[in-house]
Amino acid sequence: MQFNYIANTSQPSSSGQTIAMLDPSDGQPYDEIQRSNAADIDAAVGAARQAFSVWSKLGAAERGRLLMRLSLKINAHAQELTAIEQRDCGKPTKQARADASALARYFEFYAGACDKLHGETIPYLDGYSVLTWREPHGVTGHIVPWNYPMQIFGRSVGGALAAGNVCVVKPAEDACLSLIRVAQLAAEVGFPPGVINIVTGYGHEVGDALARHPGIDHISFTGSPTVGTLIQQVAAQRHCPVTLELGGKSPQIVFADADLDAAIPAIVNAIVQNSGQTCSAGSRLLVQQSIYEPLLKRLGQAFENLRVGPATLDLDLGPLIRQSQQQRVWDFLSDAQVANIAMVAQGKVVDEAPETGFYQAPTLLRDVPVTHRLAQDEVFGPVLCAMSFRDEDHAVELANATQFGLVAGLWTADGGRQFRAARRLRSGQVFINNYGAGGGVELPFGGVKSSGHGREKGFEALYGFTTLKTVAIRHG
Ligand code: NAD
Repeated sequence: MQFNYIANTSQPSSSGQTIAMLDPSDGQPYDEIQRSNAADIDAAVGAARQAFSVWSKLGAAERGRLLMRLSLKINAHAQELTAIEQRDCGKPTKQARADASALARYFEFYAGACDKLHGETIPYLDGYSVLTWREPHGVTGHIVPWNYPMQIFGRSVGGALAAGNVCVVKPAEDACLSLIRVAQLAAEVGFPPGVINIVTGYGHEVGDALARHPGIDHISFTGSPTVGTLIQQVAAQRHCPVTLELGGKSPQIVFADADLDAAIPAIVNAIVQNSGQTCSAGSRLLVQQSIYEPLLKRLGQAFENLRVGPATLDLDLGPLIRQSQQQRVWDFLSDAQVANIAMVAQGKVVDEAPETGFYQAPTLLRDVPVTHRLAQDEVFGPVLCAMSFRDEDHAVELANATQFGLVAGLWTADGGRQFRAARRLRSGQVFINNYGAGGGVELPFGGVKSSGHGREKGFEALYGFTTLKTVAIRHG
């Protein structure tokens, strides 16, 4: 049984109710979390408010030291955290391990950033000095999805703490055990009570209560566009600032002059990583006509070699998170059949995969019409939709033809085209001849259009987690 973690203590929900946690690899319950409610959020916000006076007086260098201690502690517990995340989310070992090291790296990065967040002095009227202070919002609320709990906690909570805020975190009901453990580790390395609080439960209950709570001074939401809209509406009623990190339908644009040996593994990885349950999944493949057939042939071979199975087998893909997510992918694929969209190739679910697990073979579809929902909506599963383009203008037009704007991958050797196209692509990130290599902890990340607004990751995140105060002094 897992408990909320408020003011450095494990606490049951006042509801007295729990939610069963299922292992996506076999669909069986293996633990329980608290089904929290508004009263629990109130307790967490109260603890955080008390902690804010302590945390904000610590000094930036001391905050940085604590963040660094947590980073080291996470590294020391990487195996344990990997195992927790693997079972909770159904991640292959290499993915869960990468997520644990990314979490440590976020705290390392933000540890070093704490005492480098400066204000400015501004030339003004004679006899005046004007300066700006970057001040923390206070108590920040963080609503986290299930696809990368540790990574999203690291980038969001790491940045908020570095900027001097204290945090109330609502992880996803499907996967949250690693975050409860990280909060305990933070207490062990000396984080004052109330600086990191974790309250578990359903989104429409405890997530909604968090977004509405008048003691929350900023909301960082990572999740679906639908819920992002609800959060922003609720927050608008009390003018609470919001950062929204939402979904994507990111294009991989391959020109005839691209280095295909470099592009193919990156294209495959961008859609099968985490079984396609990645906001930045490269889920649309736009290929110049002259190389469309040969590229699909090579990709088809790569897809046929992909294997899906239980998380601990550490294959190319693990299961999807839950049955409803599996059903969602099936619905998209049966829509493809109805629309006569042809399948190029599919990977295989291995025999060892229990029938009760939530498996889906990776699938490559071709000639997907740009207006079809497979080319427009987020599947959030391992389904890659290919279509061809004539020239640069056509490629940019297709790439921009969805409601989303998170990432675009651009594969071309032509330097002029790299810059021209990158300028015209409506997305928060453009990766040229790579696709998200290296994790990008240092790189600002976020979307435009329905992919959200505001930036997390990198130093840029610290601006969003602070508010600017201008101080004008007349000194004669
Ligand atoms: P979701 O929106 O259903 O849930 C996200 C979180 O919001 C969960 O913690 C959930 O409990 C909570 N929630 C649900 N309803 C709520 C409500 N009414 N009020 C407050 N909170 C509520 O999304 P999901 O299915 O967990 O995650 C998948 C989505 O997240 C995809 O669209 C994906 O692209 C997106 N995502 C985006 C990024 C990014 O950085 N842009 C990163 C990861 C995931």
